[in-house]
Amino acid sequence: MSVAVSETMMPGTAPVIVVKGLASSYEIEHLARLFLPGAQMRMAEGTRGAAVVYARAGGRRLAAGVRLAGRCVARTAPRPAQAEDVKWVLSRLLYDALREVTGIRPPWGMLTGVRPLNLVRKMLLQGGEAAAEARLLDRCDVLPGKYRMARQIVARQQPVLQSSGGRSYSLYVSIPFCPSRCDYCSFVSRTTDREGGLVAPYLDKLAEELALTAEMADANGLRLESIYVGGGTPTALDSRQLERLLLAVATHFDTAAVREYTVEAGRPDCTGAEKLALLKAYGVGRVSINPQSMDDGVLARIGRRHTAEDIRRCFAEARAAGHGCINMDVIAGLPGDSNAGFAQSMEAVLALGPENITVHALTLKRASNLVVDGRNDAAAPGVMVAHATERLAKAGYQPYYLYRQKSSPDNLENIGWALPGHFGLYNIFIMEEAHSILAVGAGAATKLVGAGGSVIKRLFNHKFPAEYIREFEQLQARKRGVNAFYARYLDSETAG
Ligand code: SF4
Repeated sequence: MSVAVSETMMPGTAPVIVVKGLASSYEIEHLARLFLPGAQMRMAEGTRGAAVVYARAGGRRLAAGVRLAGRCVARTAPRPAQAEDVKWVLSRLLYDALREVTGIRPPWGMLTGVRPLNLVRKMLLQGGEAAAEARLLDRCDVLPGKYRMARQIVARQQPVLQSSGGRSYSLYVSIPFCPSRCDYCSFVSRTTDREGGLVAPYLDKLAEELALTAEMADANGLRLESIYVGGGTPTALDSRQLERLLLAVATHFDTAAVREYTVEAGRPDCTGAEKLALLKAYGVGRVSINPQSMDDGVLARIGRRHTAEDIRRCFAEARAAGHGCINMDVIAGLPGDSNAGFAQSMEAVLALGPENITVHALTLKRASNLVVDGRNDAAAPGVMVAHATERLAKAGYQPYYLYRQKSSPDNLENIGWALPGHFGLYNIFIMEEAHSILAVGAGAATKLVGAGGSVIKRLFNHKFPAEYIREFEQLQARKRGVNAFYARYLDSETAG
């Protein structure tokens, strides 16, 4: 088995990962990208003169090495007796070599998955506190601060996860429309400016899918715990359309009995007192008003058609409408932002006193305007995220959910913070795969969790609104897979 990762030294050329002789190079590839983000996979040829990272499993010894920017580092170790240990030991050799050559210390160490909490939970179950800590800190090289935060979140989530379960589920409703497109966005959302004509036929089909979903949930004895209406920006619908949506949800689901009902009201340029009052009247208990930044220059730079003052106005209108649980998203690393500017945005958000603040590290994807237009000049988010962590803790907020995205800059994470008693349940349910998520609308993915969490099946809806409307019959047939799933995984753990 041998692996080589090479970074070509040609200016403007993406680093190249070369893998050879492995049945699966997944872990090695992603490990290399912790240090060489954007590196591309390639066959083994063409590494002459290039920076090279190699890993090789011989019959008796394992070896890894890095040649990068004029430096060479090599590591070797005896081949472990257990076959399943070979890849891990090789990965660690490679990780240590890359760390030494690049000087980079990834905050989550060798962890490349998007859900570190899962691993912490599993380690705790397997070996208890000391073993989990040793495994994460020593074996995986996770920074102590990151481990402590993950450990705290696991403890905070425990009562929520314990109180859920059985045949419970959450409903996700996708409204893939926005008033305009933000430049960092890679979602499939359509703008109401250009495709507003799709909203009415979309809501027709959505109402049908809600009815079908409710019917299947009832037939399978499922119990609804939370509703999340996201997108997109649901409040991009006009008031009449928004009421139609809320009515369709209320017609088919017992909104009064759920533990949490969230609607994203993310953009103040389409959210006003009337819509916020409608949400309240239909039992919505949690709204999300997302500034991303409170710096008008940054907002303009990322294509948001609103100012920080609009956010303050929207927030005040939400409070006036009676909304007692408001989330606000902020993004670290936006183009044009600075550490000082981000800190001021945090103060401006804290001054409003939302119950939840979610801090994202900007991860730009290929479909975003910033990448398409070659304006990928995001700021480094590391110091901003560290500042948010310290400041939010000082202000009494507690981290309650956490996830990472692939290719996250500086290998950071997104963290949901909440004042005590205000944890966003849906965020925990979906990230921890606590129960099934029945999802409706374009771009929505139903995630079925069965057999005590050991079986997970996904059913994907059509991605774009036009396709969703056109192919609805096909979608209905696919959606019947929910019944097939529960017929198969009807067991003592999920029954009741
Ligand atoms: S509001 Fe959200 S979903 Fe809509 S374009 Fe902006 S980032 Fe994308």
